[in-house]
Amino acid sequence: MWRGHITDNHMHLDPINGLGVDAAKQFAKAGGTHIIMVGKTARDWGLDGLRTEDFIDSYQRTIDFAEKVSRETDAEAFPVVGFHPSEFIGMSSVLGIESACRIAQDVAEVLEGLYLERKIYGIGEVGRPHYAVSEELWERSNVIMEDFLSLSARIGCPLQLHTEHFDKGKYDELSGMIKRCGNPKKVIKHFSPPMPLTAERSGVYPSIVSSKDSILTSISESSRFLMETDYIDDSSRPGAVLGPKTVPKRTLDFLEKGIFTEDDVARIHEDLVEEIYGIEFH
Ligand SMILES: [Zn+2]
Repeated sequence: MWRGHITDNHMHLDPINGLGVDAAKQFAKAGGTHIIMVGKTARDWGLDGLRTEDFIDSYQRTIDFAEKVSRETDAEAFPVVGFHPSEFIGMSSVLGIESACRIAQDVAEVLEGLYLERKIYGIGEVGRPHYAVSEELWERSNVIMEDFLSLSARIGCPLQLHTEHFDKGKYDELSGMIKRCGNPKKVIKHFSPPMPLTAERSGVYPSIVSSKDSILTSISESSRFLMETDYIDDSSRPGAVLGPKTVPKRTLDFLEKGIFTEDDVARIHEDLVEEIYGIEFH
């Protein structure tokens, strides 16, 4: 019987379009204790997302909502907010690339301030789009991603990366980018394929979507990974992603079946979370 903690490293909770607090209650009821709550986009909060002020506003709403979740449920929520690559692409089509890049820089400053004030536990999602875009947008997205890697290294801030589908070659490329401008000890590859050893070679922490097969493959390699659902909390897209109970359920089931040892669970859900985010468990 596991008496420690269970962390979902990437969950979106949406009090407007989804279950909000109730999703966190489901997570807690299944045995979950810690939610790395990644902010939804400004648009999800009903804002245009075309001005720096919209981002500031959406960050505050995420921070306030994380407090509410911690107050009203048995789980604790840790806010992480960022500048989603699709927000940059959308903004570029409306305002033009130059204006969108300027807003990206302003937003990065805002995020730096929030992290230094300890209002957020990390920056994310940031990165580059998972769908095809023009060469120019791809290049600019890479520049923004590198800027965030540099910022993360400079202030020691955890960074959750959203990218296109990853494989070994992509991990090598990321490793090169980080050598130039980042600190791998603060970089988390959100939605990583199940290849913890490859991620470890680049220094990055993989956060693995908690389907049965992915976690089975991962644990056969190493216990150096985080678990996530990427729960999207959007009632108009039920079943689009894993549900809020998945991480605790999968973890407890694998522990019971002997696929995970207690040491594995402690590492995945406590030690690595403490190492990366500075969240204390002991
Ligand atoms: Zn996400």
